[in-house]
Amino acid sequence: MLSRKDKDIVASTLPVLAQKGEQITRRFYQLLFESHPELLNLFNQANQHQGRQQTALAQAIYAAAAHLDDVNAIRSTVVRIAEKHRALGVQPEQYPIVGETLLLAMRDVLGSAATPEILDAWARAYGQIADAFITVEAELYKQAAEQVGGWQGERAFVVRDKVKESDVITSFYLEPQDGGPVAQYAPGQYLTVVVRIPGHPYVQRRHYSLSDAPGKPYYRISVKREAAIGEKPAGLVSNYLHDHVHIGDILYATPPAGDFRLDLDDQTPVVFLSGGVGMTPLMSMVEAEAYRGTRRRMVYVHSALSGAVHAFDARLRELAQQSEFTYHVVYERPSADDRTHPYLAKEGFVDRDLIKQVSPAGAVYAFCGPTPFMRTVYRSLREMGVPDERIRFEFFGPTQQLLES
Ligand code: FAD
Repeated sequence: MLSRKDKDIVASTLPVLAQKGEQITRRFYQLLFESHPELLNLFNQANQHQGRQQTALAQAIYAAAAHLDDVNAIRSTVVRIAEKHRALGVQPEQYPIVGETLLLAMRDVLGSAATPEILDAWARAYGQIADAFITVEAELYKQAAEQVGGWQGERAFVVRDKVKESDVITSFYLEPQDGGPVAQYAPGQYLTVVVRIPGHPYVQRRHYSLSDAPGKPYYRISVKREAAIGEKPAGLVSNYLHDHVHIGDILYATPPAGDFRLDLDDQTPVVFLSGGVGMTPLMSMVEAEAYRGTRRRMVYVHSALSGAVHAFDARLRELAQQSEFTYHVVYERPSADDRTHPYLAKEGFVDRDLIKQVSPAGAVYAFCGPTPFMRTVYRSLREMGVPDERIRFEFFGPTQQLLES
């Protein structure tokens, strides 16, 4: 247990952390990869280059430090991060390395302001935070390994089918090479593929939401090709999967993970809102409801650049034939053909007016898409007075805050 004095010292550093958190975490990753280059096998370098990992870590440390007295208040954040750690294969023995490096980074950035007393209090606080993660992660590893069809670490899957869903999104159907069953998953969860790209020094790990209903003998993931744009290089793994992984090839993956869930036993109306490839976890939820033959009221709003990059449209149109399912499409730059789409709600972007207009009373909301889309949807829901208990979302990157405080 942390002493009152340690907690007070950590609390007194919160304003500095809010101000310099990203500087500290940037320095932290520099030091970490210098002293432990093997950890480059765990972390996605693109997130580092874009600063997303640093922001996410700074926000997580801040949240943990601000709730040392009441970790339960940030339990959902802890579980979300722990699920990612389990999917990536983070191990308890890596926590002390991270802790020591974090203190070094604090000392580097804060200089003499980081007194030995402050660093000692932080070392003990970090120990408490690390223990909380290690405990949650141990339980997640156990659950993943012990369930029917479950496994530990990497498992080999044969690519049984590869289906183009749009100009940029392709689905991969994966069956265990060992012929065993797949582990069940909750719609909304993701699979983490582990890829060794010839000529590339580090193992690449990427999360891909499962996009079909559970209960099938295979996993389906649907991957968007991340093209090079201006200064931004082409995405490493998505392009490798599109161009070099074919039917019959082997892909390695860790067990399904993630806390993005929809209660399938609840019959509250649900509004799904997706942007671009963010539709994959929502398709799994929709397919799960369809598979169960539920009569739940569902509204699906999908936003895409245009029809050419709009995946699963045929399937959503089919579902929209049922009276309980409503479908709305938003195209940012529709072609002439796109303008005749029978479910086109508007041109441009999803906004609060549209969400309000399509929402059944008391609905639950599930959404996923690019960050600006996520912020707009979340802000709109808050402005509409929707409580957090009725809001679920997934981020296709390190989780960021959706509202600036
Ligand atoms: P990366 O090489 O990781 O690059 C990502 C982006 O960073 C690219 O736009 C690239 O241009 C840019 N970048 C790379 N290096 C630099 C640099 N030096 N400077 C500036 N920019 C740079 N994706 C899907 O397609 N389908 C899914 O269902 C899906 N589900 C996900 C679920 C979760 C929970 C999460 C966290 C992510 C999900 N993703 C999904 C995203 C996926 O994990 C990958 O992030 C995505 O495929 C890009 O990986 P990549 O290796 O192709 O690109």
